[in-house]
Amino acid sequence: MNFSFRAKTILGIALIEAVLLSILIYSTLSFLHDSNESQFATHVETTRNVFTSLISDEVLVADLAELDSAVNLLGKNPGVSFVRILDSQNRVLAEAGEAQALARPFTASVDLNDAANGVYRTASVIEMSGVNFASIQFGFDVDFLEDTFVTAKRWSVAIALIEMGLVAVFSMLLGGYLIREINQFTAGARQISTGVLGLQLPVRGHDEIAEATRAFNAMSMTIKTAHDSLERQVKERTGELEQSNHRLRNLLNERATLLDNQTVGLVTLQARTIMWCNSAFLQMMGYADLAEFQGKTTRQFYAHEEDFVAVGQAYQVYGDLTALKRDFEFIRKDGKLIWVDLSGSRLPIEGQSLWVIVDVTERVRSQQALERSEKKFRALFESTSEAILIMDGEDFVDCNSAAVRMFGAHSKEEICRRMPDDLSPPVQPCGTESVILSKQWIARAYAEGSVRFDWVHHRLDSRQSFAAEVLLSLVSLDGGQVLLAVVWDVSERQAMINKIRQQANFDHLTGMCNRRYFMDLAERELERARRYQKPLAILGVDIDYFKRINDNYGHKAGDIALQKFAVTCHEVVRQTDLVGRMGGEEFAILPPETDLGRAREIAERLRKRVEESELSLPDGETVLHFTVSIGLTLLPAAGEKTELDALLHKADMALYQAKNAGRNRVLIAE
Ligand code: GH3
Ligand code: MG
Ligand code: MG
Repeated sequence: MNFSFRAKTILGIALIEAVLLSILIYSTLSFLHDSNESQFATHVETTRNVFTSLISDEVLVADLAELDSAVNLLGKNPGVSFVRILDSQNRVLAEAGEAQALARPFTASVDLNDAANGVYRTASVIEMSGVNFASIQFGFDVDFLEDTFVTAKRWSVAIALIEMGLVAVFSMLLGGYLIREINQFTAGARQISTGVLGLQLPVRGHDEIAEATRAFNAMSMTIKTAHDSLERQVKERTGELEQSNHRLRNLLNERATLLDNQTVGLVTLQARTIMWCNSAFLQMMGYADLAEFQGKTTRQFYAHEEDFVAVGQAYQVYGDLTALKRDFEFIRKDGKLIWVDLSGSRLPIEGQSLWVIVDVTERVRSQQALERSEKKFRALFESTSEAILIMDGEDFVDCNSAAVRMFGAHSKEEICRRMPDDLSPPVQPCGTESVILSKQWIARAYAEGSVRFDWVHHRLDSRQSFAAEVLLSLVSLDGGQVLLAVVWDVSERQAMINKIRQQANFDHLTGMCNRRYFMDLAERELERARRYQKPLAILGVDIDYFKRINDNYGHKAGDIALQKFAVTCHEVVRQTDLVGRMGGEEFAILPPETDLGRAREIAERLRKRVEESELSLPDGETVLHFTVSIGLTLLPAAGEKTELDALLHKADMALYQAKNAGRNRVLIAE
């Protein structure tokens, strides 16, 4: 049976109460009963003995009147039901009391319980010397005893019932209070179970229920924290799972794509005879049904008889084709050739083998194309006259034959063992060490993608230097980046340029600067002198009576005189002084940072040296002498123009004056 907690509390307490009260009532009532009975027995005994002794004399003398009054007196006693005196023949001598009780036959009661009709019966005997004279019968009322007992019983039951009622009310209130608190926990637990986490119940007072409420609240918070953490973990895990699912899907998609794009044929053979094949193989070979070749050997698929034989031998000897390490050309039903990758392995069934055939035509064709283009590239690489070197970092990894020739090496390997600066003299024309400069150019090429620069190399065999132009370009190769160095030997071109430059700037007869080049250089010197406010002199020089040399000794002698003058001139001036042939037998000299005193000294020394020099003609006999006139001007000349033309003009004017003054002299412009 399902009882509520309240019912159980009430029933439990009531049951305990009932048992306890029953024991109490029972023991109280039995004590009351026992004590009443003993009092009653004493009372009966006393009354019987007193009355017997009181009337024994009257009986002996047979005084009936006295007997009667004594009996009546006793009969009226409360608690006495009747009294009867009988003689020895059981004849009634006297009697008194309730008629109904007297009328009933007399039987002595054993105890109170034996009292019939509410009367306890007892008797006594009057005797003398062993002779029985009379007997006395007594009847005592026991109803009053019973009444007292019943009253006590009633009160006990009433008190017990009241107490049980009170206990029931109390237990109902207590149960109600407990139930209310339990209901609060039940409702809380239900809310938590429906997802209301972190629920907090109000805490009242400081008793055990308050303690239980606090524990409940703590548990609720713990559940919430655990739930939150679990939820977080689940979220994280779900995220991870989704990611790995995504990866897996991608992987599967990739794999599916891979399988779709590839044609992997499967064939089972027995003694080289086709037992079974998959549809991919049929498709690969251009057949519609296995029946077209089932039971036949695989020979029909091989484009070349020798391949069929080689495969058979390799499989026979090694059990697979790893020893062959190559692809085979197969022939399709429509006659087209395809390239296949073959691999075979024995099956557990005696004599049978499984073969995997992959169509690798595209790969082989592109490989062949690659090889062709590689050959083409090699041919170009090798045929060009430029040295081409491939560098990884600062190491050479390959080069062409032109490089081997240009650098005087024995082989490509020899070049690849060298460092870039090994191919150069220790120092470059600019004065920087080759090892430092080469590293700088290589670093720039890696940074900027390509650099082109002039360089001086030297040969490995003779150590002979040669001018070169180098192009370093960064190119992608095999998934990495390498430097391609193209080197042109420009020594011939350089010589040509130098020659042209010489011809353009210098006078072929005297080797002096020509007018144009002299003007260029002189402008620069003039600019420098102006900027740094340095003195500068210009000398105009003209050979005296030069026409006569030509006229008298021929043009050739004139030329020799011009050359002689040039030599003398270079002996007198400093290396930094400019000397130019301005035309015919006219020259200009520009000594920088030269004041008047020093300029005059130069001019004078030149005039004197020319005057003193002897000119031997090729005939070995004729010795000539000639002189020069010199006009001199200076920068700065206060208040005058400082342009080159003006200065030259001034020097010319001074020269003109020197001529007029008799020649072979130096005149300073005014
Ligand atoms: P002056 O003392 O006044 O300078 O008299 P000059 O004869 O030296 O002067 P002039 O200008 O009359 O003569 C210059 C000559 O120089 C004329 C020309 O034929 C000659 N001449 C110019 N260039 C060359 C050359 O390259 N070779 C030779 N041999 N003669 C040259
Ligand atoms: Mg002259
Ligand atoms: Mg002249």
